[in-house]
Amino acid sequence: MERTKRMTAFLGEAAQFIPKERIHTDELRRLAWGTDAGFYRMIPQIVIHSANEQEISKLLIIANRLELPVTFRAAGTSLSGQAISDSILIVAGKHWERYAISPDHMQITLQPGIVGERVNELLRPFGRKFAPDPASVKSAMVGGIVMNNASGMNCGTHANSDKVLLSARIILADGTPLNTGNAESRRVFASQKPEFIRRIEELRDEIRGDKTLSERIRYKYSIKNVTGLNLLPFVAYDDPFDIIAHSMVGSEGTLAFLSEVTMRTVCDEPCKASAMLYFSNIREACRAVVCMKKLVNERGEWIVKGAELLDAKSLSSVNDPTGEGLTAVLTETMGTTPEELNGYIAVITEALQP
Ligand SMILES: Cc1cc2nc3c(=O)[nH]c(=O)nc-3n(C[C@H](O)[C@H](O)[C@H](O)COP(=O)(O)OP(=O)(O)OC[C@H]3O[C@@H](n4cnc5c(N)ncnc54)[C@H](O)[C@@H]3O)c2cc1C
Repeated sequence: MERTKRMTAFLGEAAQFIPKERIHTDELRRLAWGTDAGFYRMIPQIVIHSANEQEISKLLIIANRLELPVTFRAAGTSLSGQAISDSILIVAGKHWERYAISPDHMQITLQPGIVGERVNELLRPFGRKFAPDPASVKSAMVGGIVMNNASGMNCGTHANSDKVLLSARIILADGTPLNTGNAESRRVFASQKPEFIRRIEELRDEIRGDKTLSERIRYKYSIKNVTGLNLLPFVAYDDPFDIIAHSMVGSEGTLAFLSEVTMRTVCDEPCKASAMLYFSNIREACRAVVCMKKLVNERGEWIVKGAELLDAKSLSSVNDPTGEGLTAVLTETMGTTPEELNGYIAVITEALQP
């Protein structure tokens, strides 16, 4: 069947269980919803606002049968075309905003349509926060943050989505659901798809059998790296369900739909200070970063929580008036009390003395 006919068939079947207000085929809304923050342009043929897992499962089964590509969208702030499509665009925002915080506030379970900053608002009264911190956190949603493995200045690679993810509830392209945090769901999945689990285990063992490859993977993910699918789970986890859950991070919606994720929360220190430090050249700036990375408190935690380098070109692009040819390092430190914070500032100042 030619593509237009398959698209019409998809629309006919989808309209049987999705209310028409949530299906857009008109030019204006296809253009609007089909636009993300990147500079690529594709216009979806159909835009569907999904509301629950059953809908997603059915839509994926139909699209799979008709061999039509599907792209998911959360807030659409992606910069590299992750949230655009010339086929079917499924939006998971507004109807996906439920959450649950564990009694000790150390974990949070989130649906994908919650904006990152809202997660921080929910956790703030408990002195906790959402670990991933992209600069777009006021707009980006959990689904997009996890699936892009988005991170900002403070979470680096030690507290990105992969590091704080505990389990994921997903729907595969053939409509199969899996909640990796639920023993019964894992049992059912393993009995329905033994081959799938066996292949994951085989891949894990093959990768681990190659020491050079395993070390290379560990190194690649010790620095910021969101290129391609996440390979770290194959060396970091034994359990195939943990491997599946963590493989979702950074997969840009290509492996499954994420309908819920449970993550560790991190401490949100109430006292914070930041400073823009200027150096005569990039070498000096890098020496300072290495020096600051060595500063730890009595609990063994880094004192400097973030260091972002701005080279001379970046500074001149924002007309920084400080001086010609300088390199800057934007740094941040945090403490639980003003005294602790002042102590950290003193330690950093002392360490950076020429
Ligand atoms: C001003 C600005 C600043 C930014 N700063 C940063 C930054 O500091 N760090 C950074 O890493 N990025 C940054 N970004 C890029 C972008 O904001 C992030 O990657 C963000 O996490 C994307 O989230 P989103 O909700 O917009 O997701 P979308 O763009 O809607 O989607 C992102 C990806 O996730 C997939 N997806 C979404 N929901 C689901 C789901 N439920 N199931 C399966 N797949 C899904 C989509 O298909 C897509 O591949 C910035 C963007 C802007 C515009």
